[in-house]
Amino acid sequence: MRVVSTNNLRKQSVTLAKLALLPFLIFAMPLFAAGSESSEPEVGSSVFEYSTSVYVQVESFEQAVRVFRWLDLIKLTEIGRTTLEAINDSGNRLLIYHHDTALYSAGLTGARLSKNLVNGVGEDAFIKFYLDMEMEGTNCVRGEKGGFIEFTALQNLFHELSHARHKMNGTWLYFDSEGQAIREENIFRQHWAEYRSTHYYLRNDMIDEEDLVLKVDHSACGALAALDE
Ligand SMILES: [Zn+2]
Repeated sequence: MRVVSTNNLRKQSVTLAKLALLPFLIFAMPLFAAGSESSEPEVGSSVFEYSTSVYVQVESFEQAVRVFRWLDLIKLTEIGRTTLEAINDSGNRLLIYHHDTALYSAGLTGARLSKNLVNGVGEDAFIKFYLDMEMEGTNCVRGEKGGFIEFTALQNLFHELSHARHKMNGTWLYFDSEGQAIREENIFRQHWAEYRSTHYYLRNDMIDEEDLVLKVDHSACGALAALDE
């Protein structure tokens, strides 16, 4: 089991404190170049800086608190920390923003389509995410054994961060980008379970059109798994 130092926990509370005192509440700032899909967020929403390369655009302060907390928790795992470090070290910027439609897609990560995605240079990226999500997540995903398994807010956001990491560093696998993110998500699932001393389920990394379903009335993913067998 991985031991997390109190230093990490201290850093987490510092980050949350930073959010509460945030001096730069920027209204509808056009952070990213026009023409990028990330220009989609609503006018009037607010931008917060999470780190030198990661910005969050939200429609409510609660959404900002929620996503800062998720990012801090993801950072407690080794793969979460290295993923966020790679994003910060990429020299490109990431915008995470709220959109209601992301409820159905369980997040979407994009960037300008160019050779920089695969040649080690990278591009600015965005993550469209449903920031009103509860911790247990809004969707279930296909597990390695065939049934549906949990897809928590942390697993979901980490998955999108993995896509962003590779697009921002030019290490994106054009022909297997989903498999690339799912394999790293599986490592995150394992690291998080070790950190929390809980059981974990791995996700099926073979791409299937029916590998993601929206939860109905907060149904548990395990119940869906039972139906599936
Ligand atoms: Zn994906």
